[in-house]
Amino acid sequence: MKIPFFDLKGQYSQIKHEVDAEIQKVLSTGLFMGGVPVLDFENAFSKFLGAEHCVSCANGTDALEVALKALGIGKGDEVLVPANSWVSTAEAVNNVGAEPVFVDVIGREHTIDPYLIEGAVNENTRAIIAVHLYGLPARMDEILPIAKKYHLKVIEDCAQAHGAKLKGRSVGTFGEVSTFSFYPTKNLGAYGDAGAIITNDTLLAEKMRRIANHGQLKKHDHDLIGRTSRLDTLQAAILTIKLNYLDQWVQKRNLIANWYNAYLREGIVRPMSTTNFYHAFHLYVIRTKHRVKLMKLFDDLGIGYGIHYPVPLPYIKSYLYKGYQQEQFPVATLLSKEIISLPLYPELSEQEVKYICNQVNAIG
Ligand SMILES: *Cc1c(COP(=O)(O)O)cnc(C)c1O
Repeated sequence: MKIPFFDLKGQYSQIKHEVDAEIQKVLSTGLFMGGVPVLDFENAFSKFLGAEHCVSCANGTDALEVALKALGIGKGDEVLVPANSWVSTAEAVNNVGAEPVFVDVIGREHTIDPYLIEGAVNENTRAIIAVHLYGLPARMDEILPIAKKYHLKVIEDCAQAHGAKLKGRSVGTFGEVSTFSFYPTKNLGAYGDAGAIITNDTLLAEKMRRIANHGQLKKHDHDLIGRTSRLDTLQAAILTIKLNYLDQWVQKRNLIANWYNAYLREGIVRPMSTTNFYHAFHLYVIRTKHRVKLMKLFDDLGIGYGIHYPVPLPYIKSYLYKGYQQEQFPVATLLSKEIISLPLYPELSEQEVKYICNQVNAIG
């Protein structure tokens, strides 16, 4: 049985009638940037999260850059970043002229370890980027008081966590600002690139809007040096439709994760998820000491998988300039050798999950 790692065609076929009609509508207006669909999506998304402001932009990496810039972070500043994440989280820090400083993660949760944060803070530290990796909320309850103590800004990178909740509250509403990506494979995905920045701070929201729009709020009124980063009208219209399904899709992801939890044999380390830490299950990541064998079997059978991520950020080539020692990030290093992401998308059947688990169980 061939099973892909994700299946965007299956999802499209379920909402095709709605999406096609909306695309036609946008095409017939001839308006492809801005307009009512973009404002409608921003309002719908901030309402979904329970936040005040949503500033849409072109992708999740831009969202991080614009947020950092708006917070005034730049040359000479340091930003704490978890040792395991997608490269964007760290790259955005460099791209505003600041330096990422990596902090190891918690073994069971894969998110930034709050106990290690204080040791990484110095007089140049300005912010912490908490990543809700794989869809599991980071430990905001512990991160926020440390940030307060050292006057650090908290940015939540929610690119993998649409629909995740910490004690019933949506991730993306805990820090000064939070960022989302709507890359097609994310829990809420556009049919191209898209992103958004969330905040409850009205002045910060305005500043981010200006930064992402050449420094202007009104046409030809450029009051700071900005850039361009836009969500286009078609993507906004598509996202508004898909947002209506997000809760239901995340619930389905949780149901599928429960199937995995049930059918995987004992000894295989499963993802953490509790009532308080409501996982969005963007990825279902297990740990195995026999990853090479398992990947070979998956390749032979045509079962999709991913490694998120094969090398901790401090050790990827572009960060070798920082000169970190090999034993500085023991947890992220160990995890990077054992993790493997199994297929998980709302259209996956119980029978398929059982079949995948049988393969994993056979190898260990
Ligand atoms: C996908 C992702 C991003 C970047 O989003 P893009 O839209 O691809 O720029 C940032 N951070 C994390 C953790 C991601 O998974």
